Amino acid sequence: MFSGGLDSTAVLFRLLTESEEDLRVHHIRMQNREARADAEQAAVDSIVEWCGRRLRTFRFSQSGLDFSGLETIPIDFISVAYVACQVAIDTPGCTRIAVGTLARDLDEIKRSVCEAQRRVFAAMYECYRARKLGEPALEWIYPVYSLTKPQIASLLGSELRKLTWSCRRPVHSPSGYRPCGECKPCRARIDISAALQN
Ligand SMILES: [Zn+2]
Repeated sequence: MFSGGLDSTAVLFRLLTESEEDLRVHHIRMQNREARADAEQAAVDSIVEWCGRRLRTFRFSQSGLDFSGLETIPIDFISVAYVACQVAIDTPGCTRIAVGTLARDLDEIKRSVCEAQRRVFAAMYECYRARKLGEPALEWIYPVYSLTKPQIASLLGSELRKLTWSCRRPVHSPSGYRPCGECKPCRARIDISAALQN
């Protein structure tokens, strides 16, 4: 599951460079009141192009969820679980789902996020299994779980890192958009840049 951010790009990079397995990379075009879909899409397109050209080829697909008519921002991990189930069923022989969750991102309250995400997924997957669809066993893997943000940034290298998009609330202008510099991922990125002096 690929968002175009630092963490899922690091997952993609690792799977492409440290394994020879067939990959299906899927992006969810997530429309909500934060209006970050266009910025993410541009990052996704350029990262997919870069990785296909510089590393190796893989299957890429995307789908869209449009919540822009809602007041609240839906929880991303639930949307990811939902779409991951559809993609797993749509991918013959799929036995693993990789996501870019980091241990360090999970505070006390959020620690159960991975578990909750798998639970949402399992409930859906069971419906498909009842129809004899999907593989009997499927696991979630977290290829960058133990890495810190600076480790992820250096793993990617500056060229690939610059293609990623982190901001949750891009500032839109007639000429395009720019990172807000204030949301949590923006602040994390500013810290990383300072740490890398880059
Ligand atoms: Zn931001």
